[in-house]
Amino acid sequence: MPAPHIVIAGAGIGGLAAAVALARRGFSVTVVEKRTGFGETGAGIQITPNAGHVLEALDLGLAVKRVAVSLDRLVVRRWKDGSGLAEMPMGTGPTPAPFRALRRTDLHGLLLDAARSLPGIRLVVGRGLREAAQTEDGVTATFISESGQSETVPALALVGADGLWSRTRELTGDKQPPVFTGYEAWRAMVPNGGNGASPAPEVTLHVGQGRHAVHYPVSGGRETNLVIIREATEAREGWSRDGDAALLTGHLARAEPGLRKLAAAAPQWQVWSLFDRSPAAMARGNIALLGDAAHPVLPFMAQGAALAIEDASVLAHELTAHLRQGGASAAQAALAAYAKARQDRVARVQEVSRGNGRAYHLSWPWSLARDLAMKRMGPNGMRSRNAWLYDWRQPA
Ligand SMILES: Cc1cc2nc3c(=O)[nH]c(=O)nc-3n(C[C@H](O)[C@H](O)[C@H](O)COP(=O)(O)OP(=O)(O)OC[C@H]3O[C@@H](n4cnc5c(N)ncnc54)[C@H](O)[C@@H]3O)c2cc1C
Repeated sequence: MPAPHIVIAGAGIGGLAAAVALARRGFSVTVVEKRTGFGETGAGIQITPNAGHVLEALDLGLAVKRVAVSLDRLVVRRWKDGSGLAEMPMGTGPTPAPFRALRRTDLHGLLLDAARSLPGIRLVVGRGLREAAQTEDGVTATFISESGQSETVPALALVGADGLWSRTRELTGDKQPPVFTGYEAWRAMVPNGGNGASPAPEVTLHVGQGRHAVHYPVSGGRETNLVIIREATEAREGWSRDGDAALLTGHLARAEPGLRKLAAAAPQWQVWSLFDRSPAAMARGNIALLGDAAHPVLPFMAQGAALAIEDASVLAHELTAHLRQGGASAAQAALAAYAKARQDRVARVQEVSRGNGRAYHLSWPWSLARDLAMKRMGPNGMRSRNAWLYDWRQPA
């Protein structure tokens, strides 16, 4: 019997993780990606234990370890004086999995390598999903190139892993566009060495009125990934664009000297306007949504890619379990089970991330109450409060 065939729109972190998870379970997978080249400069990513565990189960643990920095803890500091408000030890919990940071391109690259090395995966670039139709046997997905060449691919199921502005989501009937949140993320990669950047294996979060910053080492400690979030009145054109450092001057003037020094050493900035969107129905018939296509998350818990990786694992698990019974209706049942397994968790992460944004940016005197609550929690309190997030494991 031929291997059941799944088509995935989008070869981002979520789409590639799904392809690898499915191919490792014996599926034949076609991944179709709109772009022709990959690569995002100036961006790092934290992989928290919930997602780190999935990558290890996909046999990618060693590849990640080679390019990532293992982090011990998260430290929260006050923007204006750098005083410590809280810290959370990581790498603990009932089944410890590593907490790591790396360049996004490194994570994407190792997923791409894994996908290319697996015989069950066909990767097509330069074609975007245009249409999808449910059929008796599953679904057909039509992809089109910029020059108008099209290809229609039949499959048991279509997985939309095509990001925030997902065409697949539109095709499932959800036409509400993402909404600008009033936040901008300024990202820079700062070379370490003599500029005050700390190579300590930790994530530092600085909270201040109307702004916050996050930094952590990547590239084996040779660089620090720095992100500054500030409030903005309107989304500016382009989802990623070069940033003029002069626009950060007012924010940094009141920052503690260490953060100012780190920001001053940034060779260039890239700016993202941050959008939000309610969670989608994650499955309709033989079409499923995954990652940002289903539930974009504000980056205030570092969970967008982590959730996409979790989605990939649950999707592969449900398809494997249901397809033992065979047929297109089994695929539908699998996708429905996947949506049910994911919906509460992804909605909770979205909600807590939004709440974190509000809490990080509080003005005086509300910030005093926040600081006191953080201090009272203590390291173990903070870790246990987040156990639901970091101790998630793929149900057997
Ligand atoms: C400042 C910032 C910091 C972040 N930090 C973290 C972090 O530390 N940890 C973490 O877990 N997450 C983090 N995130 C979130 C994370 O980057 C995203 O959630 C994650 O990359 C989403 O992956 P995805 O595969 O779902 O979507 P994407 O990465 O958007 O990939 C979608 C892919 O689909 C392709 N595509 C689009 N349309 C089509 C189409 N019609 N047909 C075919 N292909 C198509 C796109 O070209 C793209 O390659 C951060 C985000 C920001 C903005």
